[in-house]
Amino acid sequence: MERKVTVNDMMMARDSRASLQRKMTGRYGTPVISFTMNIAGPVKTGAAIKRTFEWGKERLLEELRKGSVGIKEMSCSYAFTGYECMIACDGKGSILKKICESIEEGSPAGRLFDMDVVLPDGTQIRREHERSCIVCGKTGKGCSSRRIHSLNEILEATERLIMEQFLHFDSIKAGKMVVKALNEEVNTTPKPGLVDRNNNGSHSDMDPELFKKSASSLESYFAGCFAVGAEHRRDRAGEVFEVIKELGMEAEKRMFSVTGGVNTHKGAIYTLGIISCAIGRLWEPGRPERDPNAIGKECSRLAERSVSEHFEGLSKKKARTSGDRAYLEYGLKGIRGEAAEGLPSVVLVSLPVLRECMENGYSLNDSAVYALLHLIALGKDTNMYARGGKEKAERASEAVRFLIEKEKYPHLKQIEELDMAFMEKNLSPGGCADLLAATIFLYEWCYSEIA
Ligand SMILES: [Zn+2]
Repeated sequence: MERKVTVNDMMMARDSRASLQRKMTGRYGTPVISFTMNIAGPVKTGAAIKRTFEWGKERLLEELRKGSVGIKEMSCSYAFTGYECMIACDGKGSILKKICESIEEGSPAGRLFDMDVVLPDGTQIRREHERSCIVCGKTGKGCSSRRIHSLNEILEATERLIMEQFLHFDSIKAGKMVVKALNEEVNTTPKPGLVDRNNNGSHSDMDPELFKKSASSLESYFAGCFAVGAEHRRDRAGEVFEVIKELGMEAEKRMFSVTGGVNTHKGAIYTLGIISCAIGRLWEPGRPERDPNAIGKECSRLAERSVSEHFEGLSKKKARTSGDRAYLEYGLKGIRGEAAEGLPSVVLVSLPVLRECMENGYSLNDSAVYALLHLIALGKDTNMYARGGKEKAERASEAVRFLIEKEKYPHLKQIEELDMAFMEKNLSPGGCADLLAATIFLYEWCYSEIA
């Protein structure tokens, strides 16, 4: 729990801020920008507030840089009484005040910023526009001086502003990261039977360029799934799933129009759309969810009902896809089953392999190759069955299993040989490729610095 402040704590903090302002203006003879957060109630700190503060600080520094304002000194404090940043600036007070007001008014979270400009004589430059109430939007001090809104109302409004600010950022980041993972998946070489940098595998109608074009067209879809998840995190998972299903159908149309009718990413649209939505549902502005188990469980909550209804209602007549036929003939549930069961192949198999390889110093390419082999070895890929029939599919995944049982990380030469064997039999583990993209994305989201 964050520490609570008393009236006395706040008075002391204000005094020490004033004394620091005097010291800095005295030392340089320049104005000082005093940036604090406008947070009501006894708790002034926490992950979400800190992220908002850091973002405000970045914005301020960026605008000062753009205005060619020299910085004499900057001093930040992260006490329980609230985050503060003091900047002695080599610029005209009125210009600095304009910069501060433009940041305060230029974004949802800016409403929570107090950016004052203190002149060398100790006076503050007055605002040009009166600020508005964060709860009802009325201008002037009426609401705060008459205590019109309850603390709860004010805190809820504060949370909403922070959400609004970072939901947009994080959904865009998630969309970009999914597309990056899809491109890393197609670049991973060698991959048995799949399109990679060496060859187009068992596919005559696809190449890496087509995959990249297709992936770029899907960025806004993945960002959208994330945003829908975050905005509707209190709604029932099954209902949210219906919303992203609609988005998924539009994304498929876009993919087919970009690829001229070739199915490059249908499985990825399904799997990574659900994962993006699941991360959105678990999202909090100060703390993006990074636990793959929790993310897998949320995927299961989203997809469970729809998947069981789909398979229950399936008959030979109704079967439309190779995945449907694989279920009727062999009992395989494919990527639908993976999602409904919480991504067990990824969370328990390929992600730990990828992580272990990365930690042991393998490149992302080689780590991803080994993660893929472990997925193929599970023998659950419906594309393999659809293309080669039961016997060929089982024998091919057995060959992979045999190879990695002998040696967990075999030489890439041996995998190139597997690639040739898969191509001769026209086999392609397309479902595993989608799961590999999901593995790479989750690795980067959960364990790397960029998330
Ligand atoms: Zn108000």
